Amino acid sequence: MTPSDPRPRVLVAGGGVAALEVVLALHERTAGTLRTTLLSSADRFRHRPISSYAGLAGDDGRTVDLARFVAEQGAGLVCDRLTAVDAAESAVLTEHGGRIPYDALVLATGASPREGLPGAITLGAPHDEAALAALTARVRAGTVGRLAVVVPAGVAWSLPAYELALLMRHAAPAGATAVEVVTAEVRPMAVAGDEFSDAVSALLARRGVRVTTSTWPDAVDEGRLWLPLQGAVEVDAVVALARSVGPSLPGLPCDAHGFVLVDARGLVRGERRVWAAGDVASHVVKQGGFAVQQADAVAEDVARHLGLEHLSAVAPHPPVLRAALLDGEDTLYLRAEHVDGTIRTAVSGTPLWWPPTKIAGGRLSAWLAAFQARDGGAAAGSELLGAGGA
Ligand SMILES: Cc1cc2nc3c(=O)[nH]c(=O)nc-3n(C[C@H](O)[C@H](O)[C@H](O)COP(=O)(O)OP(=O)(O)OC[C@H]3O[C@@H](n4cnc5c(N)ncnc54)[C@H](O)[C@@H]3O)c2cc1C
Repeated sequence: MTPSDPRPRVLVAGGGVAALEVVLALHERTAGTLRTTLLSSADRFRHRPISSYAGLAGDDGRTVDLARFVAEQGAGLVCDRLTAVDAAESAVLTEHGGRIPYDALVLATGASPREGLPGAITLGAPHDEAALAALTARVRAGTVGRLAVVVPAGVAWSLPAYELALLMRHAAPAGATAVEVVTAEVRPMAVAGDEFSDAVSALLARRGVRVTTSTWPDAVDEGRLWLPLQGAVEVDAVVALARSVGPSLPGLPCDAHGFVLVDARGLVRGERRVWAAGDVASHVVKQGGFAVQQADAVAEDVARHLGLEHLSAVAPHPPVLRAALLDGEDTLYLRAEHVDGTIRTAVSGTPLWWPPTKIAGGRLSAWLAAFQARDGGAAAGSELLGAGGA
């Protein structure tokens, strides 16, 4: 890239699934006609649905070098943290004092995990990874009699709670650990519809995981889980899903939790050159498969905005929900989509999409599978694709 390069500048901020999918989709749609730069605070991509489970879902050591990834896509990489957006001047500011101009900006910096329940270990929070690993070792050793996994109110994508409960139950010696999910939902995975919920509930029942619904615990204190109506329940350990918050970027519209407000195509409200995709955006369901589909819609809109694609302005398709639920032995594949006014659900013990990745859809899962075949061989499969991976 040279200063006199006339090609439009697209800046993609983030280094997770949404950011990588945007880079892949732009490259495929507009190869060579854009100057795409990835601005990421981390220099490696980490697959959170596997790496967050402290080894219960496979080895979490393998990551993707972002410098190699962008080089393959003809893009550039800046390892720095976006701190502010100067939308009036079409530039972002970075932690190390940089100022990067853009013709189109895509925000894909994810959400920040906050404590899900006072006193509990928070799943998916970097500061609690060591505590979860220590708990996992105790469960494997058979010294945890009663484990509760909590879904706090306001968390729409609760599948990781049920997955952790199943993985912990499987990891424990037979009969050693009673595992219960305490959820604010009226039923497990209520957001995905009744059939999806029934399939998850049936699996939990088969594996001996109890579920208490419509319950909002207050806190964990000295071996007690405090519930509003029941009072104190004796527990040995409690893990809670994180409450997510957005970045509250000054100068951009955001909701009460700091997530960037977007329209159906991911264009930030009131802006003409700024889009957001993935967990950073104001969509209620924070899920990787959704993030990938949002990223594809954003890449299409960016290309159209820059005059590189002449597509009719049809409304984006409603997203398809794909979930691969690991239980330590098998993988349950679930897919739900809204068709003709109803939710159509498919449930199967064999893959319903290919490659059968945890974060499914778009181009990234195929890219990761190819990367694994080239660079990691079979050994890398469990980390990048999940236990059900090819
Ligand atoms: C335990 C667990 C299990 C899950 N299981 C599944 C599953 O099975 N299927 C599924 O689809 N989803 C799953 N999810 C959800 C999924 O991981 C997220 O929805 C997805 O990672 C969101 O992608 P993202 O790119 O928006 O954000 P992230 O994955 O959070 O990536 C954000 C990236 O941006 C970078 N970044 C952050 N701030 C800045 C900044 N200011 N400047 C530059 N870079 C920045 C970060 O380093 C990070 O690389 C799971 C989540 C958890 C915690």
